[in-house]
Amino acid sequence: MDEKIKKLQKIIDESENIVFFGGAGVSTESNIPDFRSADGIFHMSYQYPPEQVVSYSFYKKYPEEFYKFYKSKMMVLETLPNPAHLKLAELEKVGKLKVVITQNIDGLHQKAGSKNVLELHGSIWRNYCIDCNAFYKAEVVKEAAGIPRCSCGGMIKPDVVLYQEGLNPSIIEQTIVAIGKADTLIIGGTSLAVYPAAGFIDYFRGNALVVINKSNMEKSVDADLNIAAPIGEVLGSLYVDTV
Ligand code: ZN
Repeated sequence: MDEKIKKLQKIIDESENIVFFGGAGVSTESNIPDFRSADGIFHMSYQYPPEQVVSYSFYKKYPEEFYKFYKSKMMVLETLPNPAHLKLAELEKVGKLKVVITQNIDGLHQKAGSKNVLELHGSIWRNYCIDCNAFYKAEVVKEAAGIPRCSCGGMIKPDVVLYQEGLNPSIIEQTIVAIGKADTLIIGGTSLAVYPAAGFIDYFRGNALVVINKSNMEKSVDADLNIAAPIGEVLGSLYVDTV
């Protein structure tokens, strides 16, 4: 383990354009439930299966049920960043890390201080009226009784990519460009089993591909360095030269 951390430290020291691609595992260490893992909220008992609730058709048809689940299980507003988020923000500040790409919707990278964050699945912190596109803060949605509504009467929708919805093409484009320019790509907290994580790696042309993931990977990646440990522990132990 120590040898692997040393190797990672060397890679980071020698890199000038690091891109981080993070999955659910980055957030679970801040105690945010993972949607797809075995002990995630998909396996909790609920009136409807969560994968059905978090779909666009369900949101349109049963908004009250959608919001009951969304507000209580997905709108985690008080959670704090963990050492992984903090270290990535530090690496960005010294100019080594250029972009954080995340599949998480919790906004913890921004809370940690990261500026250049590409949110593939959107964010619980942005909400828009589906009729007039007015912006609403997360607190307004969370505190609304029942279905959150705009002053125009329209329903508010979180800027979160639900099942049946496509990813934002501009975010995809920026993700591909960032990965294509990176000299080091660190993939953390994801099994890489779920689209689009697997496909994005093909755009990497840099020197070092690093995978940090606690659990076994369902899809094996030809990484230069594989670390099977919690991401917060691994990144937290790195030294960032601020001079
Ligand atoms: Zn409106």
